[in-house]
Amino acid sequence: MNASYELIIIGAGVAGLTAAQYGARANLKTLVIEEMAPGGQVLLIDQLENYPGIKEPVSGYDLSETMRMQAEGFGAEFVTTSVEKVERAGTGFSVTTSDGIFMAEAAIIATGAKHRRLDIPGEEAFIGRGVSYCATCDGPFFKGKKILVVGGGDSACDEAMYLAKLSDKIVMIHRKDRFRAQKALAEHVLDNPNVKVVFNTVALEIRGTKKVESVLLKDVVSGATREEAFDAVFVFVGSDPNTAFLPDIAKDETHYVITDEKMATSLPGLFAAGDVRVSPFRQIVTACSDGAVAAHAASQYIDETRGAAYR
Ligand code: NAP
Repeated sequence: MNASYELIIIGAGVAGLTAAQYGARANLKTLVIEEMAPGGQVLLIDQLENYPGIKEPVSGYDLSETMRMQAEGFGAEFVTTSVEKVERAGTGFSVTTSDGIFMAEAAIIATGAKHRRLDIPGEEAFIGRGVSYCATCDGPFFKGKKILVVGGGDSACDEAMYLAKLSDKIVMIHRKDRFRAQKALAEHVLDNPNVKVVFNTVALEIRGTKKVESVLLKDVVSGATREEAFDAVFVFVGSDPNTAFLPDIAKDETHYVITDEKMATSLPGLFAAGDVRVSPFRQIVTACSDGAVAAHAASQYIDETRGAAYR
């Protein structure tokens, strides 16, 4: 296969879906490549309340499915496959996937980020046996059980709120003395009677025989350690960008892609949008904004390479 498109978008999270909508609506022959279901991390959101224009909370699935249908309605095509390599080809790009090569005049990277691990003993061994990185996926297995949530950001707070609907025995630890999360989210958690928040505490080891049974915790102020029984450990300690397949472009020290205000990367014609790029605030609304800007800039780039730019 060697199909040609004007615009290829890699990743169908909300940034990619918005880019697809704007690209297709600008009459670009647009392909979205996603290795899993469209929606990305948003699919994991049970109740989304901080997106403009929604009166009642919606599920991440409903939002992203509507966005996918909207993009498709404007003519965007979707393919499910894994991207292995993105390479320069003239002024455009060749995108090598496990199902063949696709050519593009411009490309947008919207591959988001994947969950970071704690990297402590027992974590790897108990994944799927009590250790999880997704409350909506695995929370229902631990209804009424004692659950440890690790992290202090928006994700940890959102997911703790979800877990608190399933159990009244949630303990949330954070390594600092207050949450990094937005105030509103942090307050939801602090006010929830089903969640006991313990600051200045880290997990040192996850223990058990066949499944999670306990966690060795450390108070970082006193240095004291204690073992506490838990049935599950949910880890939400940030994310790392999905950039392994990218050509050599500018990234920051944590490997997030550096863009300008038009979402242009250091390689002309290659744009980045959403969680994969360096950004001061990662929200659905900012990811959508990135996607719209990137598609508009990609369209301008294509016009320029064809000598058809509006002056
Ligand atoms: P984040 O904002 O980077 O927070 C990660 C948290 O994990 C921080 O509190 C950090 O502690 C802690 N942490 C990191 N490494 C750790 C370790 N090894 N051991 C213990 N704790 C560790 O990541 P996030 O919560 O996944 O959010 C990612 C982005 O998505 C953010 O921009 C966020 O605003 C956005 N988001 C928004 C929403 C929403 O608006 N509803 C929901 C989810 C995510 P420190 O604070 O000490 O660094």
